[in-house]
Amino acid sequence: MTQAADRIFTNAAVHPLTAEDSGEPTAEAVAVREGTIVRVDSAYEVEFLNGVETEVIDLEGQTLLPGFIDAHTHMDIVGRYVAEADLSGTTEPEACLDLLADQRDESEGWILGFGYDESAWGGDYLTRDQLDSVSTDRPVVAYREDLHLASVNSVVLDEYLDQMPADDVHTDDGEPTGVVVEDALDVLREETAPGPEGMREYLLAAQAEANSLGITGVHDMVRNSPAPRVYRELDQDGELSVRVRINYWSDHLDAVIETGLRTNHGTDRVRVGGIKTFTDGSIGGRTAKLSTPYADAPEEDGSWVVDPETVQNLVERVDDAGLQMTVHAIGDSAIEATLDVYEGTDGERHRIEHAEVLRDDLIDRLAREDVVVSAQPNFLKWARSGGLYTDRLGDERREASNRFGTLLEEGATLAFGSDCMPMDPLFGVAQVVDGPTAAQSLSVTEALRAYTAGGAYAGFDEDRLGTIETGNCADFAVLDESPWESNDIADIDVALTVVDGETVYDDRE
Ligand SMILES: [Zn+2]
Repeated sequence: MTQAADRIFTNAAVHPLTAEDSGEPTAEAVAVREGTIVRVDSAYEVEFLNGVETEVIDLEGQTLLPGFIDAHTHMDIVGRYVAEADLSGTTEPEACLDLLADQRDESEGWILGFGYDESAWGGDYLTRDQLDSVSTDRPVVAYREDLHLASVNSVVLDEYLDQMPADDVHTDDGEPTGVVVEDALDVLREETAPGPEGMREYLLAAQAEANSLGITGVHDMVRNSPAPRVYRELDQDGELSVRVRINYWSDHLDAVIETGLRTNHGTDRVRVGGIKTFTDGSIGGRTAKLSTPYADAPEEDGSWVVDPETVQNLVERVDDAGLQMTVHAIGDSAIEATLDVYEGTDGERHRIEHAEVLRDDLIDRLAREDVVVSAQPNFLKWARSGGLYTDRLGDERREASNRFGTLLEEGATLAFGSDCMPMDPLFGVAQVVDGPTAAQSLSVTEALRAYTAGGAYAGFDEDRLGTIETGNCADFAVLDESPWESNDIADIDVALTVVDGETVYDDRE
């Protein structure tokens, strides 16, 4: 007699998203016992596992996929978007100022906003004068979407200008404009960093947001933050509803090595990922390192945030310690330098984050090497004709950027994440299914696999996560509509999110 299931999800269009997935549903039902998938089959066959104590969930024809894994995110930022002013999606500076004014009225101390994108209104960053209209006695900071640039008011400049490297402070006629970049942000981060209590609030808000988007796993990038401690406490308290892979910033490498943490150590819910560093900055801030200058600034070709020699030394230490490495590299020179460093190592699955400005020779190398391209399909929103990358890169490099179709065709390994711009897998999938060019596009199945199995592989989790198969963890996203049949994938509602067989989000009627 076969043991009964704890839960049966039936009457669904089940897409396992294995390597063989053709895009057609291959099953109608999934049975779960103790958090593990024990059967994927027709509704008729799975019904044999329906015992007296089995809970049956009728999905009424909805689409059941593996839960999404966001392979590059910053959960504290996602939480801040919920708790502070969320400036993403604004289309004019006035809207940002209104949101910051609302935040001023609801808070004390720092007035923080996150996620503005000046390319939505013609390219001018927010200025100190504009932010002074929000407050002249409390500090105001509006972070650009990429977090490499922020706009601040006069209170912030009066108090902290002397702690900011002059090179990273924009000026006009010698006067700071209120726009600060890169290392000038360090002092702001330190001054506004949440303690454990604040972080707990941020992370709980972020995981609720993640679950509502069908996300069951995240690879979080953490630096000087109580997040690792808070994650482990939430895990112990049974309050964690996403699986978390912690990628520690390189300034924690000594501590990680000394305390004996190694890649994949941890529990079912919280594991150690790799060590993260930057090489360059961002395209928006013209700090991504390019082999030829910016189209809209012929004197500039970006800058090293961390120079190649330092990265080389770091990667050698990380590799020797048996840890995974993950390197932020956006410009083609930065990608090239990172590949040069990786080629000299024998570590497994080192990652390149973003890898945006691609050349054919780089695509060849990314396909050949044992590296994971951890990319953001949502960034294609800037790679459309007339978008930010048209200005910064010109059309030729814009169309050569983020060539996910070519990368996959050539044999590269893709793991998709959002970098929280915004956190939303279906928005990313919609962007890449309808990419600006064929070379930048993927099929629905390929895109969904990069957002599930791809993240699982990047996290050494392919034997338990990322596909709907017997023996895997029962982590699911149930969608209201099939993405293979939808005209508007970004608008599809997540109906149900399941982690370890337990419902963590339910939006069904
Ligand atoms: Zn990031």
